[in-house]
Amino acid sequence: MRSIPAAVLVTLLFAAPVALPRDYAIHAVPMTAVTIDDGFWAPKLEVNRTVTIPHILKENDDTGRVANFERAAGKKTGAYEGRRFNDTDIYKIIEAASYSLALVPDPRLSTRLDELIQLIAESQEKDGYLFPARTIDPQHPAPGVGPERWIYENGSHELYNAGHLYEAAVAHFEATGKRTLLDIAIKNADLVCRTFGPNGRHAVSGHEEIELALVKLYRATGNATYLKTAEWLVAERGKPHPDMPPYPDKAFEMYNDRAYKQDQAPVVEQDRAVGHAVRAMYLYAAVADVAALTDNDAFARAADRLWQDVVSKRLYLTGGVGARGTTESFGDDYELPNLRAYTETCASVGNDLWNQRMFLLHGDGKYIDLFERVLYNGVLAGVSLAGNTFFYQNPLESNGRAKRTEYFEVACCPANLARMLEQLPGLVYAVGPDTRAAGTIYANLYIGNHADVKIGDRRVKIVEDTRYPWDGDVSIRLEPEGSGDFTVALRIPEWSRDRPVPSDLYRFADNAGEPPVVSVRSRNAEAQRVPLDIRDGYVRIRRNWKGGDTIHLTLPMPARRIVAHAGAKDDEGRVAIQRGPLVYAVEGVDNGGHALDLVIPRSASLRSAFRADLLNGVEVISGQAEGGRAFLAIPYYAWNNRGQGEMSVWIKEKP
Ligand SMILES: [Zn+2]
Repeated sequence: MRSIPAAVLVTLLFAAPVALPRDYAIHAVPMTAVTIDDGFWAPKLEVNRTVTIPHILKENDDTGRVANFERAAGKKTGAYEGRRFNDTDIYKIIEAASYSLALVPDPRLSTRLDELIQLIAESQEKDGYLFPARTIDPQHPAPGVGPERWIYENGSHELYNAGHLYEAAVAHFEATGKRTLLDIAIKNADLVCRTFGPNGRHAVSGHEEIELALVKLYRATGNATYLKTAEWLVAERGKPHPDMPPYPDKAFEMYNDRAYKQDQAPVVEQDRAVGHAVRAMYLYAAVADVAALTDNDAFARAADRLWQDVVSKRLYLTGGVGARGTTESFGDDYELPNLRAYTETCASVGNDLWNQRMFLLHGDGKYIDLFERVLYNGVLAGVSLAGNTFFYQNPLESNGRAKRTEYFEVACCPANLARMLEQLPGLVYAVGPDTRAAGTIYANLYIGNHADVKIGDRRVKIVEDTRYPWDGDVSIRLEPEGSGDFTVALRIPEWSRDRPVPSDLYRFADNAGEPPVVSVRSRNAEAQRVPLDIRDGYVRIRRNWKGGDTIHLTLPMPARRIVAHAGAKDDEGRVAIQRGPLVYAVEGVDNGGHALDLVIPRSASLRSAFRADLLNGVEVISGQAEGGRAFLAIPYYAWNNRGQGEMSVWIKEKP
């Protein structure tokens, strides 16, 4: 290994993962095989890499998050600063930075990660335990962590922190080939697997995350103990936990509410999303993982039921989840307040992590449709265009008070968002089996890129060109080695057809207009129309592909009106506007200082136009509101970039 240059090593590591006895039938095409080079995402990823990631690294320094590790390592005196789960802000930014190193070498960033990892190594206790909030002064542990290890799992976050450590470790190992952080994670995971289980402590994590992280560690190492413990932790939820005494802090009584942590019933019996939204998303993602990797149909069915419940009764149009601020949790059926919407950025990140896994499990495009809705709206709104201020909550209405800030006391969201965006190249394509041909290449996200995809033993170079999400013309040129019989599955988003979401929660209030058009053209030949035969969300084109064959997809993108289910009282008498995957919002700054009093009658026509001068370039929608007043709407993700002011997604249709 020593003589292999780093760049080659990266490819090897991504290309040759540990072979597992069971896995998802479909695999994402690795991020290192896809280069995003479009006009929308490429600049955003550049901002993420050059502004957001360094900003968070600095905030972690300035807010004592790094100092906590220095204290645990014996390099500094004093007590643990801040919340006991602040360690995860270090782990998550290492994860984000590692993905960025896999894509763009950066020796200074690499060295900074090495330094942080060295500190983490020195903070780890001999038996693998890693929790500065206790290690700094075991006789006087930080508030909320309990007098002994593991006994306050309801609220200590010991296992939650461990989970983010493993995710960071796997990302760092895969990006750099270095085992430094991976070995720390393995030592900790071995302790966790010795401590919890059928013959150990009967407890679950008060904040899910360890489950999906153990699966990742299993995937990276092939050590089946990690999968076994992940499976046990998922199955243990809802059972009696004799080793989980009540959390004593009355200010955090919700930690003892079993529904708050999705512990109210065994997972296989759950059919309604309840409790803390981020916790729920991480658990459901792990349920999909365990279902696939242990071939457990009961878990798969539970994930399906929970998914249908979320998309039918608990999903904001922006893809956000979590209606209630007091407990950061799901509400009753159709409880979707707009001004008070909680919709934590982390919950959107979690929703995407879950939907990506549901796609790998079932191969249905409806999960990518939802992934896309969450990504372009719920996730992207979490960060400013400049990349250095963030939302924790993402309301769908503002009276002028909401404002992004540089960091938070509880800073889970910024680094979570940074690690999500950095993974985007790995979410564009996937490869799966095809009973009759060499396999299927799934074109999931329409983003301009060039890629090098392996299907069977064959490499296929792909060049994708598009202005998506501003227009729906996509061209995909294939350059297979030789020629090849395989299938290309093009996702036909639900928004381009008859409904915005796979339920009756939202519906279009106008006609779809022109249907999507698909054609294929070979070199020196006429384009051939492909019938719009959509199955599981995809048009599948199987043929003997030759170099230069080009697929053209046209997804017409009229601005469309959406209305909500009658049960969603907060949206009653209101309309939202969507164009392509983007949900729109009206802001005071574009509408004479006010947005909440706008009335856009059903009869008003909606015009769209690209404005290169506005918000780094956006397609705006305009028309005549009630009273002859002109209105202008911008993509929701871009709101709050020109100061504070009123904003609304759901606009009144009558005065
Ligand atoms: Zn968060």
